[in-house]
Amino acid sequence: MKKRSVVSIVLFLCLGMFFVLPETASAATKNLEMSQISVTAATTTSVSLSWKKVNGAYGYYIYRASSKNGTYQKVAGLKKGKIVKYTDTGLSPSKTYYYKARVRYSKKYCKPVKAATKSVSFSDAKPAVTVAVYKSGSRVKWKAVSGATSYRVYRATSSGGSYSRIGTTSSSKLYYTDYSGTSGKTYYYKVRAAKWKSGKYTYSRYCSAVKFRTVSRVFVACGHGTDILGAWDSGCTYKSMSEAGLMLPITKSMVKYLRASGVYVYTDADANNNKNMLACVKWANKKRISAYMSIHCDWRYAPTGTLPLYKSSADKKLAQALNKGVRSNVSIATRGLSYRWDLYELSAPKAPAACIFETGSISKDYKKFKKHDAYGKGLAKGMCSYLGVKFAD
Ligand SMILES: [Zn+2]
Repeated sequence: MKKRSVVSIVLFLCLGMFFVLPETASAATKNLEMSQISVTAATTTSVSLSWKKVNGAYGYYIYRASSKNGTYQKVAGLKKGKIVKYTDTGLSPSKTYYYKARVRYSKKYCKPVKAATKSVSFSDAKPAVTVAVYKSGSRVKWKAVSGATSYRVYRATSSGGSYSRIGTTSSSKLYYTDYSGTSGKTYYYKVRAAKWKSGKYTYSRYCSAVKFRTVSRVFVACGHGTDILGAWDSGCTYKSMSEAGLMLPITKSMVKYLRASGVYVYTDADANNNKNMLACVKWANKKRISAYMSIHCDWRYAPTGTLPLYKSSADKKLAQALNKGVRSNVSIATRGLSYRWDLYELSAPKAPAACIFETGSISKDYKKFKKHDAYGKGLAKGMCSYLGVKFAD
């Protein structure tokens, strides 16, 4: 063995002895035992513990469980023997916890000690609130507040704005569905609990405002199907094909993609085009929608290409978006947007925007119509872009 190697082995051993010292010392600490730890304070979210300093200890480990014989998890590793207190934070109110501890390197745990967080007074309680889309509305949900006899739900159009009460529920109903919001509009919701006692109400705190955008709602009508007298209306025809027959699969495809993107759709396509335009507009006018659209194709002598029809300036924006969506997805010409003042489905809908979308000529573009999934997807993309909704592929 070379001299250098001997030197390094000796050096290694010396250093090893030095670094291992706490470990060898831990042989003595292995049996060190903590006396009972005690609970010195508790708040609604914290528990403070203390214990007697253990001579020779290199620190302490603190463990917590939610039942006496449950699973204890380490909440603190204190690496100094002189630290004799610890505050465990981030706990839930009115809850019982169990703590135990051991000296660092020791295997011996002290007996568990029970601790309870304080309960929040009714007037200090703050309901935990979430909002999600529910059908065509916004469902406000909250966790029960102990002592509540009812809950009140408020809404505003800005977080610091003026909140008006939109609903009251009994203590057992922990949600309220708001169907009164404008389609695709951002609102702020707050909830507070109320307690009826000795002839008067006291209230909890309001929850922090929850920002939520109402689901976007639209009406998509499939052209023709039934005439205004209730008889079958095929629309225009070419060879064995009909406008109503070609437009239904396109409408269904558009509806499918819109729903997948989270848009709430009213449509006569769900019942295979069983409604005429008067019935569609009447139905749509009862709903709080962002847009009304009707899907058609042009007769056999019409030139090739799309022809979106509009009346108002909002209609025109919708028409533009739909046309762009279609042409990004289907290779088809366009005859451009066309202003029409005389059409029922542009004048009668109360929706902020309406469009009659002529998808093309039945004789020249039917092959494009037969790729109904792509055509409907293009229309859905256009509608999503108009609504400001992310299109889900
Ligand atoms: Zn038509």
